[in-house]
Amino acid sequence: MRIVHKYGGTSLGDDARMERAARHVAFLAKEGHQMIVVVSAQGDTTDALLADTAQANPREKDAYIAVGELLSAGKMAMALEKAGCRAVSLAGWQAGIRTDSTYGNAKIHFVRGGRIEKELSSGNVVVVAGFQGIGENGDVTTLGRGGSDTTAVALAAFLQADKCRIFTDVDGVYDKDPRKFPDAVKYTALSWDAMLHLAQSGAQVLHDRCVALAKEQGVTIEVLSAFRDVPGTLVGCMEDSCPL
Ligand code: ASP
Ligand code: MG
Repeated sequence: MRIVHKYGGTSLGDDARMERAARHVAFLAKEGHQMIVVVSAQGDTTDALLADTAQANPREKDAYIAVGELLSAGKMAMALEKAGCRAVSLAGWQAGIRTDSTYGNAKIHFVRGGRIEKELSSGNVVVVAGFQGIGENGDVTTLGRGGSDTTAVALAAFLQADKCRIFTDVDGVYDKDPRKFPDAVKYTALSWDAMLHLAQSGAQVLHDRCVALAKEQGVTIEVLSAFRDVPGTLVGCMEDSCPL
């Protein structure tokens, strides 16, 4: 199978977490799956980078904050090599992620997948820096806070992946934030529309643009815990499972 895994900033928050994710990916690669890994910047790197750019113009701000994901992608590729599999890291522009030119909130138009296809067929795990692409004028763009989710769905759609898994610090989608409300209830399945509604009303588990893109392109997303091997939430063309 061709599988996209996306790991968020908390899921890669320190080297042990990075290595845990790498071991999971390496295991699947060794089973013969083609693996594409999308990474966010580690921990609060993006906040720190943003704090440096208060005076910057939008173009330079994007060029600067996109670096968090590049570091993470490089680290993930090294962790994968350490876990015994061949890997290459790619920046958004190298991965062919073409966007409009709205700095700070760019929209993905399409993915030109030639480079990724070439790397996959030569047996590499492909690690893609999330949250970024290349605009119409050739500049680095970023996709808005939380945008690495959208990178994952765009890659799954344009490279026709069989699975799109988004690993996060919660183990699925809940009716309210489980970190704040102990009585929150997890959905086992949700329609794209229900997820979109939750995302737009402040549930931060998925970037709202990623859900809209998933619906448009017919991508089913699995939302899973990066830390615990338990069933998560499926978001796709399905009936909402009532909270249990
Ligand atoms: N690193 C970016 C952010 O903090 C993108 C992401 O994590 O998806 O918003
Ligand atoms: Mg997120």
